[in-house]
Amino acid sequence: MPDITLGIIGSGQLGSLLCQAAKKLKVKTVVISDDSQGPAQNYSDQFIFAKYEDKVKIKEFINKVDVVTYEFENIPVEILKIIEKEKKILPKPNINQIVQNRKLEKSFLNDLYIKTTKWAFIKSADDIVKNKKLLPGILKTNTLGYDGHGQFVLNSLDDIKKDWCFTADYILEKKVDLNKEISVVISRFSNDKTYTYEPIENIHKDQILKHSKIPADISEELFKKSQAYAKLIAKKLDYIGTMCVEYFIDQDNNLLVNEIAPRVHNSGHLTINAFNISQFENHIRAVCGFNIEKVKKISNAEMINILGKEIKEYRDKSYTKNEFFFDYEKKTIKDKRKMGHVTILKR
Ligand code: ADP
Ligand code: MG
Repeated sequence: MPDITLGIIGSGQLGSLLCQAAKKLKVKTVVISDDSQGPAQNYSDQFIFAKYEDKVKIKEFINKVDVVTYEFENIPVEILKIIEKEKKILPKPNINQIVQNRKLEKSFLNDLYIKTTKWAFIKSADDIVKNKKLLPGILKTNTLGYDGHGQFVLNSLDDIKKDWCFTADYILEKKVDLNKEISVVISRFSNDKTYTYEPIENIHKDQILKHSKIPADISEELFKKSQAYAKLIAKKLDYIGTMCVEYFIDQDNNLLVNEIAPRVHNSGHLTINAFNISQFENHIRAVCGFNIEKVKKISNAEMINILGKEIKEYRDKSYTKNEFFFDYEKKTIKDKRKMGHVTILKR
């Protein structure tokens, strides 16, 4: 394999797991992050602590690497474009521009005749009144949301607070009466070859992923349709690397895309133990220009996310040979912070 150094923007658990996959493939890693405590530095070959707007540090980072990728989508697109002028950056910044903006993301999907929740773009309280047919609904900031941050449930017009000043743009989404949530993780290579992992069934609590499992308990039709949509989306975006499509299934078994994550995804953590090649390894392979390898499922599996102080009891537990505990080694425990996960392989 060629001698290659990969730059990774972001140093959380996804960055850590990407670095570990890179190590396995003998790819060197340089992580840049605005979190001096970011756990990925425990696994990277080099670590640069910097604000993402610091152009000198970004330059230093660019000079050290052959290709750049990232672990989260909310990086200023301007920075990604500066990097793109000098080094290959995958997935491409123009993809990020679409996906980190809920309005552009939903329009992109609807243009492909893929259903999403019913939605409207919101700039003022008046816009909510005009779209009251979307209530009960969820008001979401148009950009910069994650793990339910920047979301407000609106059951009726009475929930609009007088002091909201709408300094940001929002979208209002009709609340879906959920039957299930699933996700499809897909890795696409530069020669248009793809590997689509089987759909994963997810349970969220307080808008944060709590539990994932394969196989998902869904019909053959939804299995195929969710994979086909993911493939179409990846192709239309000319996506290279691993991405994830999050879906809602409503009470009438309609399949709606919730959102696209242009990166490896929390629900795909079980691929580390349940497949011979994980979502992380496939991402590294794709962005570094390696060949696609044959992917094989080893086992059914379930994954439990460990949030906040729950980590303490998991650190003290003992595990069987089918249980895999991952401690993200985050220095501070915060309420609802993702601290680790456990994957249990099942028959
Ligand atoms: P984030 O960008 O923070 O991941 P999401 O839009 O994916 O936000 O929402 C997080 C979770 O909140 C979803 O996985 C789902 O459980 C719930 N949720 C979000 N929007 C809706 C909706 N319109 N109807 C029902 N549940 C929703
Ligand atoms: Mg989400």
